[in-house]
Amino acid sequence: MGRIQKGVKCSVTDCNSEAVRSLSRNKFSASDLKLKEGKRVYLCELHYKVWKKKTKNLREIDRLRYG
Ligand SMILES: [Zn+2]
Repeated sequence: MGRIQKGVKCSVTDCNSEAVRSLSRNKFSASDLKLKEGKRVYLCELHYKVWKKKTKNLREIDRLRYG
């Protein structure tokens, strides 16, 4: 996880919370959350949890399919 500057806002459209995590866009592509433009994706606590939950589900699907 990258460190982020203070005062950076969440990259999710319509969210104005302060970001606590940053990710590369590639990593984030698994999610269907709508994002503002930018090279990196910044997430607030709430959206980070949402994203983590979604990617966890995807991983479980993969395991079922290939495991
Ligand atoms: Zn957010």
